[in-house]
Amino acid sequence: MTGKRTWTLIGADGRPYESTLPGTLGGHRRTKIYGRLDCPGAARAIARGGYVSHRVFFADEATAIAAGYRPCAVCMRDAYRAWKGGDGG
Ligand SMILES: [Zn+2]
Repeated sequence: MTGKRTWTLIGADGRPYESTLPGTLGGHRRTKIYGRLDCPGAARAIARGGYVSHRVFFADEATAIAAGYRPCAVCMRDAYRAWKGGDGG
């Protein structure tokens, strides 16, 4: 083992780069939605197939937003509401 494993993440500019740390959030390149790695919605989509080839990963939420992705309404409800411009009412 060399410990040189890297992960391909999406940067704030929307372009992929090699990271020495795995991403903490997943995303879908075509729908431009990001969410938790254990998102039930994403898991269902992956199980159906056709999702994995568009799956991307982010180091953190700020990076995902900067890259133009929006929060998943299923697993990121608070972030999704904030993104929609709601004031929590
Ligand atoms: Zn989700």
